[in-house]
Amino acid sequence: MRVRFAPSPTGQLHVGNARTALFNWLVARGAGGTLVLRIEDTDVERSTNESEGAIIEDLQWMGLEWDEGVGKGGDHGPYRQSERLHVYRAHIVELLSRGQAYRCFCLPEQLEMDRHVALRDRRPPKYAGRCRDLTPEQARQRVKNGEPAAIRFRIPDDREVVFHDIVRGEVRFNTEVLGDPVLVRSEGIPAYNYAVVIDDALMEITHVIRGEDHISNTPRQILLYEAFGWTPPTFAHVSLVMGPDHSPLSKRHGATSVAEFRARGYLPEALTNYLALIGWSPGEGREILPLDELARRFRLEDVGRSAGVFDVEKLAWMNRHYLKLAAPDRLAKLSVPYLKNEGWVAEPTAAAVDFLAVVVPLAAASVDRLDQVPARLRFLLDYSAARALEDPVVRAEAETARPVVAALAEVLANSGPLVDREAFRAAVARVRERTGQRGKPLLYPIRLALTGEPEGLELDLAVPVIERGAMLSRSDGRPLQSSGLRPIASAADRAAAFHRALTPA
Ligand code: GLU
Repeated sequence: MRVRFAPSPTGQLHVGNARTALFNWLVARGAGGTLVLRIEDTDVERSTNESEGAIIEDLQWMGLEWDEGVGKGGDHGPYRQSERLHVYRAHIVELLSRGQAYRCFCLPEQLEMDRHVALRDRRPPKYAGRCRDLTPEQARQRVKNGEPAAIRFRIPDDREVVFHDIVRGEVRFNTEVLGDPVLVRSEGIPAYNYAVVIDDALMEITHVIRGEDHISNTPRQILLYEAFGWTPPTFAHVSLVMGPDHSPLSKRHGATSVAEFRARGYLPEALTNYLALIGWSPGEGREILPLDELARRFRLEDVGRSAGVFDVEKLAWMNRHYLKLAAPDRLAKLSVPYLKNEGWVAEPTAAAVDFLAVVVPLAAASVDRLDQVPARLRFLLDYSAARALEDPVVRAEAETARPVVAALAEVLANSGPLVDREAFRAAVARVRERTGQRGKPLLYPIRLALTGEPEGLELDLAVPVIERGAMLSRSDGRPLQSSGLRPIASAADRAAAFHRALTPA
C-alpha cells in the first residue's frame, strides 16, 4: 500500500488537512505501507517556501513522519510539483497526439462571459466547448500566430463514471456535468487535476485519501487515468471538519490551524488523538488512544460519511488528560515560552528548569492549555502585596484580618523556610494559637498575604514551592536572577510586605 499527503503550501496547515494527513499516516502505519509527502506548489502566486516549511514542521510536531518525499527522498521524485514540470510536459504530448487533449484559445473574459450566461440560464457553468472541434491544423496555425493556448482534456460525451469510495460507497457522475477541464494553463503551468493524476500514477499511489471537497474532481481524474491507460487508485474521501454551525471550520470559528493550536499550548498527542475521533470511533467507548494504538485500530472502512464538528471543549478535555500524563520536565520546557512572554523567565539554568518541573505540573493540573499556565503561576513569579490590596473588597477583608496578618509576619520572621507541608502547618498552628482564629478567617488572610491572590493552589502545595523558589533566587535586586527566573520572595518576606502594605503609614 502506498498513500500520500499532498498539501498545497499556500498557508498554514488547517486542522482538516492535518486530519487527512493523520488518516493517511494511520492507514500506512497500520498496513505497513508507505506514506509519501508531495508538495503541490503549482499555484505560483500563492505558494511560498515559508508555508512549505511551516507545514512540514507541523507534521513533524504531530509525530506524522513520512517515509518518502520532500525532505526524505525516494525513487519516485522529485516530490515538489514545481520540480516536475518536465514530467507533465512529456505526458501532455501523448494526450494531444491522440486527440484526448486539445488546445483552447478562449480568453479569460470570454470564459467569464460564458459562465455568466450559463448561470443566468440555469445551466451548469461548464466549458462551452468553443475550441473543442478546432482541427489540429487550425490550432497549429493559431499557436504559430502567437495566440496563448491552454490545453484542455476532452471529456467523453455522455459517460457515467462510477467508482467505489471506501468512505462514501458507490459514487456516480455523468460526464454531462463535467465540462472539459484545463490540464495545462496558457503559461505552461499544469492544473491540479492533471498534475495530481500524473503524480499519483507515477508515484504508484494505491490509495488516495483526501478531503471530500475533492470528490467532484475525482471523475475527471478517473477519466484521465483511462486516457493514459492506467488503473486508478482506490479513493477515500473523508468528510470535512465543520464548525459548531455545521459550515466548514474557518477563521470565524476561531483557531483553525495546527500552528494556532500549538501556540496555545495543546500537546501534539492530544490534537492527533482528538482529530482521529472526528468522524471515526475506535469502539468499546474508548476515546483516549495514543498514536500507535490508533494506528493498530484505525480502519478507513469505519470512517463515517457525515461531517464531523470540531469541538474545542472536547479537545480541551483531551488536552487536560494528556497534560496530566506528561513528564514534568517536558511540561516545564514547554511552558518556558509562555513564562518568557510574561517577562518572568529568561534562559533558565538547569536548577531553574528542575524547579519549574516541580511547579509547572501543579499549575498544569488545572488548565486546559499551556498558555494558561502563567495565570496559575502569578502567585509565584509575580507576587505583589500592593496589587493584592488594590481591590477595595479584598483590602477591607484584609484589614479586618489584620491581627492574623501581623501574627503571620511575626511567626514567619522567627521560623525557618516552610519547605514542606508539615512546616507550613506548624506555622499556621502558631498563628492560630496567637489569634484564636481558625478555618477561613485564619486561612484566607494567610493565603492573601503569601500568594497575593484570594484563591488558587492549595496552600500546602503553594507555600513550599514559594520557599523553594526563594532559595533558588538570590536577592541581588536584578529583575532576573542568574537562575534565569524572576526573584521569588520568601513567605516571611511576603508576610512582612503584606503587613506593611496593610498598615497605614
Ligand atoms: N493539493 C491538494 C490540496 O491540498 C491535494 C488534493 C489531493 O489530495 O488530491 O487540497
